[in-house]
Amino acid sequence: MANSLSSLRESNRRMVTEAVRKAGSLTQAQLARTTGLSPATVSTIVRELRDLGVLAISSGGGRRNAVTLAPEPGLLVGIDFGHSHLRVAVAEPTRRVLAEQAIPLDVDTSAAEGLLAAETLVDELLAALRADRQEVLGVGLGVPGPIDPLTGVLGSSTILPGWVGINPALALGERLGLPVHVDNDANLGAIAEATWGVARGRRDVAYLKVASGVGASIIIDGRIYRGASGAAGELGHITIDENGRLCRCGNRGCLETLAGGLYLIELVRATHGPGITVPRLVELALAGDVGCRRVIGDAGRHLGVAVASLCNILNPGLVVVGGALAEAGALLVDPLQEVVHRLAIPSAAAVLSVVPGALGDRAGVLGALASVQVSNMESAL
Ligand SMILES: [Zn+2]
Repeated sequence: MANSLSSLRESNRRMVTEAVRKAGSLTQAQLARTTGLSPATVSTIVRELRDLGVLAISSGGGRRNAVTLAPEPGLLVGIDFGHSHLRVAVAEPTRRVLAEQAIPLDVDTSAAEGLLAAETLVDELLAALRADRQEVLGVGLGVPGPIDPLTGVLGSSTILPGWVGINPALALGERLGLPVHVDNDANLGAIAEATWGVARGRRDVAYLKVASGVGASIIIDGRIYRGASGAAGELGHITIDENGRLCRCGNRGCLETLAGGLYLIELVRATHGPGITVPRLVELALAGDVGCRRVIGDAGRHLGVAVASLCNILNPGLVVVGGALAEAGALLVDPLQEVVHRLAIPSAAAVLSVVPGALGDRAGVLGALASVQVSNMESAL
């Protein structure tokens, strides 16, 4: 009798812990409904598990008396390399960000310089938190190029010329003495939007990262689709105009030469001065500058041509547009959506919405934090 009682208590405790783990946070009333246990039993179990350090009960704020898993000790680090910036964040295991900083950096020039800058910034943020590397449980790293999932090496010699032959996870892991998980920036943006942003709960999503370059990530039935060699989603290098401009990948007329920030700023250099940047281009467009609006609108239309094909092939329900150019909001997204609805087959276009991402330029670093236990995150998407 004593045995069956204690095993019943064990299974009830497991049920409560599992329900909290799945939901992230529940009130005791919600826990009772979810588990089918009586409110009195839930209350007893929650109190016992809190005393054992398994659960925590928050007080105050919008989620008064919310039951969560007790915070684990340790820290997570997220690192996001763009083509022209480096962003690092340090978070609790729950992914609550404790410190974050971005610096401008020409990442293309040299992997060694980029990795050194990342190492320095990680140490600075840890020091500001009075913590050190020994407390870090794992590191998520985003790079703006395709990673070969078998070798871990950057899969293109032309997209990030300074990183040829580099295994970024291994190289940074050796520097930091920590386990590093690497993925490309578009996949991490997709993971972040699916975990915290506009793609939450959606099963079939395409995420576009439109910044200096153009990348995409494809979530099919809740999982990121990587392809046979990790190159799935390289939307920026599909051919739009065979006789078009030479692209940094070596082909002509890639989507990126028509919609990537690196190429767009060249269009306005003559009229707006040599110092123009992608953020400035967006800022001027939002302030009403006709030339900058035209450049961004045209980029949206070109993206729309590619996204329409993507929709005919994969039939996503949602396209999320992230990256620095997406800060232009409707100026980019409206023309994109209009072209997709004109070109995609009606049954694919009918279910599709195109929206700007919710996480802005933090999407990459948040995705890097989420990816520290990516196998869990992906199954949770
Ligand atoms: Zn290209």
